[in-house]
Amino acid sequence: MTPSPFMTASCSCGSVELHASGRPIVCNICYCDDCQKGAEQIEALPNAGAVREDDGGTAYILYRKDRIACAKGTELLRRYKLKEASITNRMVASCCNSAMFVNFDRGPHWVSAYRARFHGKPPPLQFRICTKFKPESTLLSDDVPSHPGYPPALAVKLLASRVAMLLGR
Ligand SMILES: [Zn+2]
Ligand SMILES: [Zn+2]
Repeated sequence: MTPSPFMTASCSCGSVELHASGRPIVCNICYCDDCQKGAEQIEALPNAGAVREDDGGTAYILYRKDRIACAKGTELLRRYKLKEASITNRMVASCCNSAMFVNFDRGPHWVSAYRARFHGKPPPLQFRICTKFKPESTLLSDDVPSHPGYPPALAVKLLASRVAMLLGR
C-alpha cells in the first residue's frame, strides 16, 4: 500500500515527473549560501525559471529517499555540483532547466525536492533556516519560526524519519 498523501512534481515542460508518497519529513525555506549559489547556477541556465523565492530563500519539501522517485524522464535529469568534490547534487530537468531536487552521493537519507515544482496544495511551511546568510535586504516574514542555523526541532524530525525508515515503517 502506498502511504498517502501522494504528491506529484513536474518540470515546467512536463517531461520529467517525480512521485512522492507519505507525509514529508519537513517543509522549509533555506537561505544558506550554498542554496543561494546553487540557485544562481541553475537560474543562469537558458530558459531557467526562478529557483529562489523573491526574498532569496529556496523552498524545499524533504522526503525520505525511499518515498520519492523519478517516475518519468529520468534520462533528462542532469546533476549540478557547486564543487567537483561536493557530495551534494542539484538535479535539473535538462529539457527546460527546471530545478527538481537535491540529493547526495552518500550520507543523508533524504531528498530535498524543490517545493515550487509540486502540483496541488503543498504541505505547509514549517521553518525558515540558515537565515544568517539571507540577503541583507530581506525582511523575514514571521509566519513560521526563523532560525539563524539549523533548528534542533529539524534535527529531531530528521532523526525520527531515519529511525522509521530503518524500522521499515
Ligand atoms: Zn522539462
Ligand atoms: Zn541551504
